[in-house]
Amino acid sequence: MTESENWVVAFADADETQRSLLGGKGAGLAGMTKAGLPVPPGFTITTEACRAYYDAGRTMPDGLWEQIEAAIEALEAATGKVFGGDEDPLLVSVRSGAVFSMPGMMDTVLNLGLNPTSTAGLAAATDDEAFAWDAYRRLVQMYGEIVLGIDGSRLHEPNEHDRVDGQAAVRRLQTIARDQSGSRVPEDPRKQLRRAVAAVFDSWMGRRAIDYRSMEGIPDDLFTAVNVQAMVYGNTGPNSGTGVVFTRNPATGEAGLWGEYLPDAQGEDVVAGLRTPEPIAELAVRHPEVHERLVELTDQLEQTYRDMQDVEFTVERGKLWMLQTRAAKRTGRGAIRCAVEMANEGLINRQEAVGRVTPDRLEELLHPVVEPDDDTVTLVTGLAASPGGASGMVAFTADEAVALTEAGNDVILVRTETSPDDFHGMVAAQAVVTSRGGVTSHAAVVARGMGKCCVVGCEGMTVDYGEQLFRTPTAVVTAGDVITVDGTSGTVYAGLVPTAEPELDEDYETLMDWVDGVKRLDVRANADNPADAAAAHRLGARGIGLCRTEHMFFEGERIEEMRRMIMAPNTVARAEALAELEPHQTADFEALFTEMAGLPVTIRLLDPPLHEFLPSRSEVAETLTDLKLRLSGTGNLAEIDHILHEINEQQEILDQVERLSESNPMLGHRGCRLGVDYPEITAMQARAIFTAAVHCAEKGIDAHPEVMVPLVAFAAEFRQQRDIIRATAAEVFDDAGVEVPYHIGTMIELPRAALTADEICADAEFVSFGTNDLTQTALGLSRDDSSRFLPSYVRAGIIDGDPFQHLDEAGVGALVEIGTTKSRSVNPDLTVGVCGEHGGDPASIQFINGLAIDYISCSPYRVPIARLSAAHATLEHEAASTA
Ligand code: PEP
Ligand code: MG
Repeated sequence: MTESENWVVAFADADETQRSLLGGKGAGLAGMTKAGLPVPPGFTITTEACRAYYDAGRTMPDGLWEQIEAAIEALEAATGKVFGGDEDPLLVSVRSGAVFSMPGMMDTVLNLGLNPTSTAGLAAATDDEAFAWDAYRRLVQMYGEIVLGIDGSRLHEPNEHDRVDGQAAVRRLQTIARDQSGSRVPEDPRKQLRRAVAAVFDSWMGRRAIDYRSMEGIPDDLFTAVNVQAMVYGNTGPNSGTGVVFTRNPATGEAGLWGEYLPDAQGEDVVAGLRTPEPIAELAVRHPEVHERLVELTDQLEQTYRDMQDVEFTVERGKLWMLQTRAAKRTGRGAIRCAVEMANEGLINRQEAVGRVTPDRLEELLHPVVEPDDDTVTLVTGLAASPGGASGMVAFTADEAVALTEAGNDVILVRTETSPDDFHGMVAAQAVVTSRGGVTSHAAVVARGMGKCCVVGCEGMTVDYGEQLFRTPTAVVTAGDVITVDGTSGTVYAGLVPTAEPELDEDYETLMDWVDGVKRLDVRANADNPADAAAAHRLGARGIGLCRTEHMFFEGERIEEMRRMIMAPNTVARAEALAELEPHQTADFEALFTEMAGLPVTIRLLDPPLHEFLPSRSEVAETLTDLKLRLSGTGNLAEIDHILHEINEQQEILDQVERLSESNPMLGHRGCRLGVDYPEITAMQARAIFTAAVHCAEKGIDAHPEVMVPLVAFAAEFRQQRDIIRATAAEVFDDAGVEVPYHIGTMIELPRAALTADEICADAEFVSFGTNDLTQTALGLSRDDSSRFLPSYVRAGIIDGDPFQHLDEAGVGALVEIGTTKSRSVNPDLTVGVCGEHGGDPASIQFINGLAIDYISCSPYRVPIARLSAAHATLEHEAASTA
């Protein structure tokens, strides 16, 4: 960093494409200024200046202040006013502006330049003494809170909007400031500015900013820019006002200006939610020509930026000023409709439309919707600020919301209005309700940003923090009571109201069609029952990538049959027990083939160690103790006989449990090792699969069975199992006189299998990476126990995240890559998939897309996310290769 570096640049001279240097707000102001829009003049102090401030140990680096002073002089020249001057003074705002918008997370100070003399000058120039002193009061409050670090509640009074006696208020606040912090707001405008800029730099490392960044994954080293801008006033009477508008509705995506306007107010009043603003359409009635101009300018902004804009504006005595434009945060539904309609309008192309919807937003759309019935009690209705539905216990403070959530409860945060200090409570809560505020209040903006359901501005609702309750015209709800929030309709209900899966509309279907047209990877689902298969199919799965057959053995009477099979003393008895299981398996497979007609259905042979199907050792021991007690308490011979028989049975189970017990069951007798030792299990499952396929063929249903052998370490294991499967298929087809095409393949879940994939896959028709077990075995990290200590690894920065959620690219990913390359080297036609949990994780999909892999398979409700993530991965790959 050198002194000659340009740390300060006027809006009119800035290059609006340099977002990382100017921040989002600075880039928007530069862009609007260049496009000739009415923007109050000002300058941006760059993110590099902020970096230099931190490098210098939180002090202004050499030369920065001189550049700021020069920019102020230029601003004075441009406006013909003197900064903090005695007559009609130039006043400025200081606002943060990071590269990624962080609504409400960072600090702002307005009206810098006011002191007793310049306030008198402002009063004379505006002919409004009350206004001038009110402006000074606001400066002292903001400066006191942000620069002097005084607790805001000490500086705010309930009736401050009445502008009773601004001069007295300033005196009182200056005294409070001195008592609380040892200093007052300085009178020298330049001192005010210098300290305000430093305070905004400091707010980058404030708690709420850090929390927000960690939630949104924004790096700390991007730093914030600071924008210094000439003040314009929306609180100068009925011809003035301020508003926030979106070029489309950010909740629904519907085209047309949407937002609100607060007459005779400053922007901060809208954000603070202290007064409920009017819908923007009212502006057309109040000031038709201003409304018309606003529509024109916002249209121009949307065309220029080719995206939905979130615009702040102020009207000062009938003149419209544009204060900010940025890409609007939007809900999932809003994002999809907006993307589809913009593509249909020709503003963006279809690929861009696909890129505009993030997996997070799509996920939100798949969330439940509230389904009230005739008995549901409506507590209150308000403004639908962020859609979705959630139920939970009422908490009135952010800390309480966090504590209740940590204790395992679902929580609804209820406030009069929220402020940035409530952020951690909003993160913890399932939904947020405020009695005041509009759809652009802090609560609304932040909840929408998090995709969290939110209702604001609930008329008739009063929150009493002291009593820990809220009142509506018909009810009193106390802390801990359960309520349900519908952020789509803006309704708050008493108690727990059922929720249902959302309807996916035509815009969703259109976008997902485009998604499928873009992506390279196929997406299948992990499903083991007809209901899951149907859901997966509806959500766009192109087949089943993993049917875990063991899940079919846990239902109803089957577990008893399974236990009889495991307890069987010899092969004949085992064959009898298996024969009882077989028709159930056949029916299950038939249902899956029917649901996925024409699509592949990958059925994995039994995988878990057998003792998982038996009761636990302690459970059996307890039953035995009970039986022995009953024995000692009875003299009835018939009962004694019966109890003795039961004791015998339980003893046998206990013996078997002990025989099967293993020190490391995950590395023990499981996967294909079961099939090697009990070939009759493999044969039974294969018979069920092929019989089901034959039944389907006889009904004209196009079944595509793929039989998958799990946890293979040696090529010979796979070959042995494959031979059993093939022989069984031949028998079934012979008996039926019908043949159904099928495939036999294997899983790669062990490092040895990945490293010898050329041997193992030489005779396979497909292979699927079981990245759950592969992570467990590659890292030597138990998938069942690691959650206890992994968080401390993440906190200590040893690993970035849970490797069972996001693929460990350097280790497990390398094994997947080696396995893919080796298997394809001997078998170029092999179908290769990934069926571990990573198949539904956007970051992992991005990595998988870069390998020669054909499909991913994930749980049914992740299928749309996986499809979209696969499309994004393709787009990013294409962008990188053309760059
Ligand atoms: C895997 O190990 O990744 C896998 C898909 O199988 P499971 O999770 O059933 O062990
Ligand atoms: Mg596995």
